[in-house]
Amino acid sequence: MTSHILHRNLRADPAIAVSGQGVMLRDATGREVMDGSGGAAVACLGHGHPGVIAAMKAQIDRLAYANTSLFSCEPAEALAEMLVGHAPGGLTRAYFVSSGSEAMEAALKLARQYFLEIGQPARRRFIARRQSYHGNTLGALGASGNVARRAPYEAILADVFSHVAPCYAYREQAGSDADYVAHLAAELDAEFQRLGPHTVAGFCAETVVGATLGCVTALPGYFPAMRAVCDRHGALLILDEVMSGMGRCGTLHAWEAEGVTPDIQVIAKGLGGGYQPIGGILAAGRVVAALQDGSGLFKHGHTYQAHPIACAAALAVQEAIRDEDLLANVRAMGVHLADGLVQRFGNHRHVGDIRGRGLFQAIELVADRATRAPFDPALRVNERIKQAAFDRGLACYPMGGTVDGLRGDHVIMAPPYNSTAAEIDAMLDRLADATIAVLETLPRA
Ligand code: PLP
Repeated sequence: MTSHILHRNLRADPAIAVSGQGVMLRDATGREVMDGSGGAAVACLGHGHPGVIAAMKAQIDRLAYANTSLFSCEPAEALAEMLVGHAPGGLTRAYFVSSGSEAMEAALKLARQYFLEIGQPARRRFIARRQSYHGNTLGALGASGNVARRAPYEAILADVFSHVAPCYAYREQAGSDADYVAHLAAELDAEFQRLGPHTVAGFCAETVVGATLGCVTALPGYFPAMRAVCDRHGALLILDEVMSGMGRCGTLHAWEAEGVTPDIQVIAKGLGGGYQPIGGILAAGRVVAALQDGSGLFKHGHTYQAHPIACAAALAVQEAIRDEDLLANVRAMGVHLADGLVQRFGNHRHVGDIRGRGLFQAIELVADRATRAPFDPALRVNERIKQAAFDRGLACYPMGGTVDGLRGDHVIMAPPYNSTAAEIDAMLDRLADATIAVLETLPRA
């Protein structure tokens, strides 16, 4: 039967997923696949979590929808209280939408409105980083530095975004850690000067870079240095933790490991764990106060913002993370995952780097370990690994363009926070089997 869905790939229909339990997904043919990355680091509790399902069912029975122009709802209030009731890092208000991209749009708009409210209307530009991804809606894509995803739409992206280098030590570090961080801070500062510091509203960065670079953490001192540049020029720090946040890296917020707090934090995937579509922003008290003391309104909104069932699901996911002590498991299993990658790939001639934090780990593949030269993109190494892993019963997240948006390959592993060591070992065995099988078929350099 030909599908009537406009699938991502219009030449091959995907398998039909029919059920999921724990780390396992099952398709319509009965085939079982281990969910080793939760899609793009989404399924943080795995599948079929009974507490989350019960919470969603209870909310459906009570109230499915009430428009936010007149009503708030109990699960949204409880979720916000849980996330920012204790003002983590000075973040005091939460705003819930339906995806990471929508959340990024909200962050950009809140930053822009903040400067209107405080009488700095010239601030309309955003500096983001190359080799980044902030979403696929036009604003979020404009902020993104992902070359391949931007390319078809470059002509319709706003001209208020510019990009500086990410902190990508494996490929771009010259000199000591301190020298490299100082160089990146100087580059950001120079970009402010080029644009006119009074025209810049914010600097956007993924706290740990996700799909585009593959689990790249910043060097110690990098984010404080970037924060200092933003502060010097009066711009906001917007941290995108859509992938890396809500526990994925072993702390609830990835910035907890960086020695900075953002002015606006963007969250999504681990917030609802895929049980419902939900994203959000957490905003600093001073940003919210400017709107409160000014127009009194956040001039933005969506029909489905703070959706009751989405918020009930996210609340239950966050309660499970807390009550099942899953951050501790993420840290312990993160070490297990990282060690397992090193055991299987540490000496492999085509694995140049193994990196990440918590249950967010990746390998970067290279044609030559000494020169770090990537494979020819025509070999489609990452795509072939994705298929080979799937054929062996593992869903993982390989991606290309690691070096410069066009060349380079990496594979992300992002298993559920409640994974066991045995499950992670099984995923690693399948990944190693698939990767080695693909690499063996490549032409010798
Ligand atoms: N920001 C980051 C860091 C992401 O990884 C993604 C998605 O992968 C997004 C934003 C966009 O989120 P969504 O796909 O839910 O719109």
